[in-house]
Amino acid sequence: MSNITPELVIDEQTRLPLSKWRKEIKTLNHSKCLYCGASDGGTYKTRLESHHIFSRALYPELTNSLENGVCLCHSCHRILHGSSHCGMYLEDSSGIVATTASSIECVILQHVQTSILISLPPGEYAVLKAYAESRGESVNAFINRAIDETMEREKTP
Ligand SMILES: [Zn+2]
Ligand SMILES: [Zn+2]
Repeated sequence: MSNITPELVIDEQTRLPLSKWRKEIKTLNHSKCLYCGASDGGTYKTRLESHHIFSRALYPELTNSLENGVCLCHSCHRILHGSSHCGMYLEDSSGIVATTASSIECVILQHVQTSILISLPPGEYAVLKAYAESRGESVNAFINRAIDETMEREKTP
């Protein structure tokens, strides 16, 4: 089909991985809202959604990265994007606190701080990703397994 522009081809290829990405982000977050802990209520207003930490518009290359997502419930997600201002109050050790976009951003930041960015030589990420996928693993799961197995092997008896 010669009338397909390169942009349309890319769009077509990213459609499926994105729905897979959404599903995997939920699984990685134990199917709970990172902020309030709600699980999927099944309806439009209570469903769980996957949020891109670095926006797709600014960082298209991170669109399908499993490191770039968190699972939020529909209400928390709306508040975070500014389409709803209050509406929810959560109780923490210091009392009742209102949920705001910045309180949610804080929790996401804490979550990101427990992630590690690693530098790889050019082209190495593609090799790593292909290898992990050939074993049915995400890059994240593969790296975690590599760390666990190396530490286990190097343990002094
Ligand atoms: Zn979002
Ligand atoms: Zn929530």
